[in-house]
Amino acid sequence: MAKRPIRKLEVADRRALTPNMLRITLTGEALADFPQDSVGGYVKLVLPTGDEDVAGSEIEQLDLRSFVRRSFTVRSFDAAARALVMDVVVPGHPGPASAWAAAAQVGDAVLVHGPGPVKGLDHGADAMFLAADMAALPALAVQLERLPADARGVAVIEVLSDADRQPLQAPPGVDVHWVVSPDVRASRLAEEVRGRAWPQGRVSTWAACEFASMKQLRAYFYQERGVAREDSYLSSYWKLDASDEQHKAAKRAELEG
Ligand SMILES: Cc1cc2nc3c(=O)[nH]c(=O)nc-3n(C[C@H](O)[C@H](O)[C@H](O)COP(=O)(O)OP(=O)(O)OC[C@H]3O[C@@H](n4cnc5c(N)ncnc54)[C@H](O)[C@@H]3O)c2cc1C
Repeated sequence: MAKRPIRKLEVADRRALTPNMLRITLTGEALADFPQDSVGGYVKLVLPTGDEDVAGSEIEQLDLRSFVRRSFTVRSFDAAARALVMDVVVPGHPGPASAWAAAAQVGDAVLVHGPGPVKGLDHGADAMFLAADMAALPALAVQLERLPADARGVAVIEVLSDADRQPLQAPPGVDVHWVVSPDVRASRLAEEVRGRAWPQGRVSTWAACEFASMKQLRAYFYQERGVAREDSYLSSYWKLDASDEQHKAAKRAELEG
């Protein structure tokens, strides 16, 4: 497989999408060969931990071992305009990516690694069940946009405030259910998923959220609802009280345990 490059891009636009979500558009000549089919997949921001001069240095001059990497969904990509759009949950938690996004200014340079693969629903299933918290809302939004017009199912989305709901393009047969939980420590995502009627037939599931909620959804989908693993995408996108490095270590420990 071809090595995924690191690209130096710059911030073209940064605006509040909803109270707790920033929309950041990145641009640059380095996007000339960025794959169009990466929408809904993710890129990693490669962020300095000190005062490294990203703007003034060639990538090869930087010691990237000291940088941190944080994943963000490719919400959209316009090849002609060389515009890559990400939606970032901010503010509310301290972290290098959150801090970078909060302070980002038009013209700022940033390194981007990727894209990674897009993992989607099985459109041949009888029904779809989707669930996401705010970090996974951009990816869920892409999944909904891609569904066939006659798809049916349920999407449960947890946001931090009522005003964080956003317009989504979903087929009419998909019931979009918003859950407002202002405190990430009191997530109701798994409970609300359990509260929805389970669709008839073979169900394909797509869910991404905080680590503990993911574990609850995993038990529900696989053990209680008998969803086949091949019909399912289930991922934890972050972990409460853990940096992304600690989150990844917890994921590894789960796999090995
Ligand atoms: C495939 C994939 C796609 C993703 N796409 C997106 C996306 O499009 N938009 C997006 O906003 N996030 C997305 N995420 C999640 C994002 O990568 C994490 O939230 C990441 O930890 C943020 O990095 P940070 O440097 O801000 O915080 P970190 O340094 O990782 O963590 C610092 C502290 O912040 C807390 N924290 C981290 N994230 C959150 C959060 N979302 N809400 C509340 N507290 C948090 C941690 O528990 C920790 O205490 C994605 C993750 C994956 C794996």
